[in-house]
Amino acid sequence: MRYVSTRSTSEQPGRPFCEILLEGLAPDGGLYLPESYPQLGARLADLRQVLAEEGYAGLGFAILSEFIDDIPADDLRGICRRAWNEDVFGTPEVVPVSPIGDGHFLAHLSNGPTAAFKDMAMQLLGQLFEYELSRRGRELNIVGATSGDTGSAAEYAMRGRQHIRVFMLTPKGRMTPFQQAQMFSLDDPSIVNIAVEGVFDDCQDLVKAVSNDLDFKKQHSIGAVNSINWARLVAQVVYYFAAYFRTTTADDQQVGFCVPSGNFGNICAGHVARQMGLPIHTLLLATNENNVLDEFFRTGVYRVRASAETFETSSPSMDISKASNFERFVFDLLGRDGARVADLFGRQLAEQGFFDLSETPEFARIREDFGFASGSSTHADRVATIKRLFDEQQVMIDPHTADGVKVAREWADQGGQLPMIVLETALPVKFADTIREALGREPEVPAAFAHLDVLPRHVIDLPKDVDALKQLIDERTRLPR
Ligand SMILES: *Cc1c(COP(=O)(O)O)cnc(C)c1O
Repeated sequence: MRYVSTRSTSEQPGRPFCEILLEGLAPDGGLYLPESYPQLGARLADLRQVLAEEGYAGLGFAILSEFIDDIPADDLRGICRRAWNEDVFGTPEVVPVSPIGDGHFLAHLSNGPTAAFKDMAMQLLGQLFEYELSRRGRELNIVGATSGDTGSAAEYAMRGRQHIRVFMLTPKGRMTPFQQAQMFSLDDPSIVNIAVEGVFDDCQDLVKAVSNDLDFKKQHSIGAVNSINWARLVAQVVYYFAAYFRTTTADDQQVGFCVPSGNFGNICAGHVARQMGLPIHTLLLATNENNVLDEFFRTGVYRVRASAETFETSSPSMDISKASNFERFVFDLLGRDGARVADLFGRQLAEQGFFDLSETPEFARIREDFGFASGSSTHADRVATIKRLFDEQQVMIDPHTADGVKVAREWADQGGQLPMIVLETALPVKFADTIREALGREPEVPAAFAHLDVLPRHVIDLPKDVDALKQLIDERTRLPR
């Protein structure tokens, strides 16, 4: 299997998995995708049995080995077993599925160490990075900024890994108490939490300034774990198959998936699973008030937002102004025409801030050919949905999952009749304020998080100053491990 860029315009040969693993964007500014999707539609019965007999990691290995041919099979199997198991995800199923009434289900993706679905992919990435870096005799210093789930998932996936350190910048005093406790309680010399005097954008500016200093970057082996990494996406394909098998009994049954979406990473994995032959009739995309993607699927116009137009909502991990993974879907939508994608994302978005596919034959067939539909929700919808599900089913969900449940219900009310699997993307414990508002009580606290807030904190305060950050990185990377 080789990987090509969404903007490639020539017949350049594709690149192997382990080469693109440690990279971000392709050199032409595009995103990597496999040159074709492995077809598993005729092997669903086998895969169902693999899940039954070898569990989630066994299924993960079966699917990943279709995409990765430059890691020996036994090694890849070990990587999957270390990433996805009961110790890490708290249940033997790793991703359990439970009914929530009316033919709807929740696929529980947030039982990992940081209580959000990003653990599903990040745990695999941690294993893959460690494996590949040790094979190459290299080390990697990840420098990132976070205001929420990605940074903590990265820290919990990379802690204790050989050859890897993490420098994670957060805006001082601006994270929720739970997020602070979760990250800052990590006691590991290779995890460096940095609280910057400023807002999230200041943190991001510092990260950019460090990576733009190419000498410093090279000397200190600086890298990133960004949301456009193909390995994160392919890791997520596995739970679509697992949730399908856990919801259905026969391989000709069609289902829908409803996916709370921000950067289009999660649902893009659903698109890949559907292209591989998983019987997904509908991919229902749910947004919050930041409805860039809902707008596209309704109108054919993709219009990125300015920061002033990006709302801070009660489902903050979906507060995006543009959807960084969306380019992958558009590449497939347009018949893999890299020149057209380069024009849309490289030129039109830069020049005018939007592109319009409403008059194209591809957009006219987006529902039939790709199964997409969409909806959005507001804060009031989330609060009402959390309350209703708790009153009716005694199930407590977080505000992101509530965006999904709301859009799934609306779709059913309009006549949608499939079994609909809503992806649960975080646990309520992370968003106590909204739970209190909806239910008048505190969220359930899983045992793993019960004592977080009394643990000592490990965090370094830093002014908004690039040289201070560089000095810190320099000092820490000199320390013996
Ligand atoms: C990241 C995140 C999302 C959005 O996922 P994308 O892959 O960016 O679409 C939704 N919910 C939660 C809780 C998240 O952390």
